[in-house]
Amino acid sequence: MSTAAQEFLRAAAIRSADLRHRRTIRQAIDHYDRAIERTRSRFDDWEAARLRCREIKREAVNHLDRYLLEFEGHVRARGGHVFWAETSAEARQYIADLAARRRVLTVVKSKSMVTEEIGLRPALERGGVRVFETDLGEFIVQLRNEPPYHIMTPAMHLTRTEIADLFREKLGGVASDDPQELTAVARGALRGAFFTAEMGVSGANFLVADTGMIALTTNEGNGRLGTSLPRIHVAVAGIEKVIPRIEDLAMLWPVLALSASGQPLACYNTLIGGPRGPDEPDGPEEFHVVLLDNGRSELLADVEQREVLHCIRCGACLNACPVFRTVGGHAYATTYPGPVGSVLTPNLRGGERFQHLPFASSLCGACTDVCPVKIDLHHHLLHNRRNIVRSAKRPTSERIGFKLWRWAMMSPERFAFLSLLGRLALRAIYRLGLEGSMLDPMRSWTKVHAPPRIPEKSFRTLWGEKHGAK
Ligand code: SF4
Repeated sequence: MSTAAQEFLRAAAIRSADLRHRRTIRQAIDHYDRAIERTRSRFDDWEAARLRCREIKREAVNHLDRYLLEFEGHVRARGGHVFWAETSAEARQYIADLAARRRVLTVVKSKSMVTEEIGLRPALERGGVRVFETDLGEFIVQLRNEPPYHIMTPAMHLTRTEIADLFREKLGGVASDDPQELTAVARGALRGAFFTAEMGVSGANFLVADTGMIALTTNEGNGRLGTSLPRIHVAVAGIEKVIPRIEDLAMLWPVLALSASGQPLACYNTLIGGPRGPDEPDGPEEFHVVLLDNGRSELLADVEQREVLHCIRCGACLNACPVFRTVGGHAYATTYPGPVGSVLTPNLRGGERFQHLPFASSLCGACTDVCPVKIDLHHHLLHNRRNIVRSAKRPTSERIGFKLWRWAMMSPERFAFLSLLGRLALRAIYRLGLEGSMLDPMRSWTKVHAPPRIPEKSFRTLWGEKHGAK
């Protein structure tokens, strides 16, 4: 087992035994579930909306080359710059060099998971640039010096009392844990940064090919301030974010808002198409779009898993996942946690490090049920497991175990005999109080739970007694 897998198991064990953490997450997700229920009724046909969104994304991803070039052409025609970054390092370098050339001292960032993916903030800070996360949740986790917990709700794991204590310690002037007061304190702390920053960095929820605009969705005004006040705006987006037409937003915006936060529409939906025009009173002097590949082309070439690129990063699959709800976002130690992260990360990052993630799933399919673009997530988790098993040499004990299992399963008599042996052995172990010991094959369960009751008769025996057949 790799070190990363051991770290995951250790973090998951700690978090799943932390009842305060579980209560906080449950309350947050219960609140989200109620909002979803209320808002979904606004769609005449939610299934039809999901199908339409899937078709939009499928069309875009299947013709990615054409739509990206179309997008690039429109951005350049309006005086913007487009940089194609094959790797995270290239994307970081381009932005860090731009900041150095333009003597940027302060950057304001709006929420963007792709900038987390490329490690932008630490790279800019190493170059002496002060970087302010301006989304409230991101601002909170920046103050705590920790990564976002969830792709949509970065500070989901914190109660407002903990946030009030954090603000009191880091910012001062906090009298209560009233959300409005806390928001005002954060606003006061960030306002100066907006006015002094020379560069604003954003992500892009969508790249609209037929107009060359980025579509940005936020619930706080920070996205608009950060992209219009500084003299340089840099938008970073994965290449899969392109969509064919501006009309597609009529379906994608409400579907994203509903799945992300249970809202009919997010508070701010902004289209940005380039630097300030000669007759425009505000906006940046320079507009740069960094298009990031970072392994996405390889995923595109894999017809079996290509549809993972349809993801619109709504976070719904995280909220639905029983594993995420138990172990929490930080246990995954990846930019994208939860089911989508367990599919994406081993593909995007490759290597050994993240191969345990597809196994961190019950395969219950709840993620697939909620995905607004109908990505068959639990089957992709299975595909990843298969690919990993095929590519790696499995431990001898595992290979022998499966050979024995196959041998037993090929014969009803052998299966019945081994079941009986297993039942007798388990019963003896639990009667002798040896649960959790090395003799207990279920010790990872019995270390934290009461031992299961071992039935007197097997299912086969009961079936035979009832139906008179084996
Ligand atoms: S895989 Fe689906 S549910 Fe999960 S974040 Fe992406 S779009 Fe949302």
